[in-house]
Amino acid sequence: MRILIVEDEVRLAQTLADLLKRQGYTADTCCDGVEGLDNAASGIYDLILLDAMLPGKDGFTLLRELRGGGHTVPVLMLTARSDVTDRVHGLDSGADYYLTKPFEPQELLACIRLLLRRGNAAEARLDDAITCGDLRLESGTFLLTCQDRSVRLSRREYDLMELLMRNQTQIVTKEQLLLKVWGYDSDAEDNNVEVYISFLRRKLTHLHSAVHIKTIRLVGYCLEVAP
Ligand code: CA
Repeated sequence: MRILIVEDEVRLAQTLADLLKRQGYTADTCCDGVEGLDNAASGIYDLILLDAMLPGKDGFTLLRELRGGGHTVPVLMLTARSDVTDRVHGLDSGADYYLTKPFEPQELLACIRLLLRRGNAAEARLDDAITCGDLRLESGTFLLTCQDRSVRLSRREYDLMELLMRNQTQIVTKEQLLLKVWGYDSDAEDNNVEVYISFLRRKLTHLHSAVHIKTIRLVGYCLEVAP
């Protein structure tokens, strides 16, 4: 589970990141609203902790733009202000939950667990069958199926294929694939992505699928469905 912390008070951001890491989450921080929106919209996070008052772009604006772009990632807003109109403003902007500073770490962790459970439940329903063209990918079994043929994917192959299939025929950048599948702390490189893409291509050939993984030079990959 990867959590993004958008908070300009550096010490608080670090404290939150340490707290989350001790609970087994992966946590990244960023300290202004412009970079925050870019990262929040990257599609690699399972949850965003968002401060209301930020330099560059305030949390409410960031959130409205994020939701306006169709991103449904759960957002927990944090603010020093306990004013009820702020709380309403936050929820109206698309926050899933609202915590007023100072809060107890236990309260924050409980909210995070709640939002992640909700997100997972929504995703699990989608996960039952991700399809693209003649392909079907099952989350429980890692089986990739095309008509009467199927192959079992490894964990990394599954993560890559899932990201490609969720984006259908839109381009997924190598950076997105590296971050989502290997994570920030990993020293994996483009080369690793290429190796796993070649494994997947071999499996697609074996399945006789009409779906191909197309390389977009210097950018990334997308799925292409042959007519
Ligand atoms: Ca702030």
